[in-house]
Amino acid sequence: MKDSNFLKENNARHVWHPMAHPADSQKNLPTILTGGEGVSIIDVDGNKVIDAVGGLWNVNLGYSCDVVKKAIADQLNDLPYYSTFRGTTNDKVIELSYELAQFFAPDGLSRAFFTSGGSDSVEVALRLARQYHKIRGEAGRVKYLSLKKGYHGTHTGAASVNGNGKFRNSYEPLLPGCYHIPAPYTYRNPFNESDPAKLAQLCVAALEDEIAFQGANTIAAMIMEPVLGAGGVIPPHKSFMPMVREVCDKHGILLISDEVITAFGRTGTESGARHWGVKPDFMCTAKAITNGYFPFGAVMISDHVADVFEKDVSGKASIDSGYTYSGHPVGAAAGIACLEEIKRLRVHENAAARGDELHAGLKGLMERYELVGDVRGGEGLMLGLELVSDRATKKPVDKNLPVVLQKAAYEDGVMVRVSGNNILLSPPLVVTSQDCQKIISALETGLKAVS
Ligand code: PLP
Repeated sequence: MKDSNFLKENNARHVWHPMAHPADSQKNLPTILTGGEGVSIIDVDGNKVIDAVGGLWNVNLGYSCDVVKKAIADQLNDLPYYSTFRGTTNDKVIELSYELAQFFAPDGLSRAFFTSGGSDSVEVALRLARQYHKIRGEAGRVKYLSLKKGYHGTHTGAASVNGNGKFRNSYEPLLPGCYHIPAPYTYRNPFNESDPAKLAQLCVAALEDEIAFQGANTIAAMIMEPVLGAGGVIPPHKSFMPMVREVCDKHGILLISDEVITAFGRTGTESGARHWGVKPDFMCTAKAITNGYFPFGAVMISDHVADVFEKDVSGKASIDSGYTYSGHPVGAAAGIACLEEIKRLRVHENAAARGDELHAGLKGLMERYELVGDVRGGEGLMLGLELVSDRATKKPVDKNLPVVLQKAAYEDGVMVRVSGNNILLSPPLVVTSQDCQKIISALETGLKAVS
């Protein structure tokens, strides 16, 4: 490894970072990571801290998952690459598709289309949704609906359905025909409604209104995260996603469940849609499918959508879309090993139990620190703290404050994520109770530093 001065100087000189101003890394040196072990990361100065971010919601099995590392190494020896474009496939992609359909996707989603990551998966689902309607003779169904605060990635289609101006404004104009519905965000919403069940109904009524306004026969799909993640961790009332499903069915609109975060156990269930008892038409996955060790994703497709494609005789159903790395054998081998490990360790059960412990710990912090305006969680290992300078007005804290908090927590041994005025937690699903206690105590150190 190059010495730490070389790394520090040359990061500033040569590296542009996603989701950051290019000059930021010249002023504030990012943490340079050189290792990972268990649920911890290790920086260039030798500090070892618990990763309460889980990489980027993806390192669900931690950094020492040897079976996944071995599967990747073995596959590099056997078949390091081949495409799955028409005419070829590979043994690992077939086995992974079988596993996904049998164990992880909600019943009735038995076809898989592979991608190189989450934004790709979203793009594929958006495209296939339009194509489905075209095959069926409803070519006018081209619009998309999504939730405000939703995050679906960075490709132009995905950015168009994103519900946060921050990820849209610099790249507009985006796709026309994308409309955003209020999110079931109890702490702040345009209806001033603090009851989650009532708020779910109001948001669904807004969805119905938008459909009536646009005309149902112009809408291809509704895309949503079962629990909003990057938008600040916003778990809806349990009635919300089932009601959205009902409305979509009533109007012939396809439902895309964006499970790039929620699939594979994070919500305490195998998938977010299963968590809410919903069968979507498409389920987008990525991230934890390879434990973050290889860029990969899969879109699961429902049998009734697949039927329309497979039984088409008009010639409109060819999937003229795909990535060089769709079905990459190394990614697929990593995926198979991951799914086996997830099943063996029953990580969703640990996610539910540890999530409840962290949620209780965060509520304790809210009782002790005025700065904590809202605590969100209760659905596995997706948790958030919203920081406000005044609980009565809910005014968000100054944008530097969460960064100072993050730094103090890091110095006390825990990495947390900052998103606006929120602190987000999404640790590996294999964290222990002791890890959770450490996460809460380091957050308390951070809160003390800024109170
Ligand atoms: N969808 C959701 C729900 C996500 O959280 C993300 C990334 O965080 C994406 C899509 C985009 O995934 P990627 O960053 O792998 O392109």
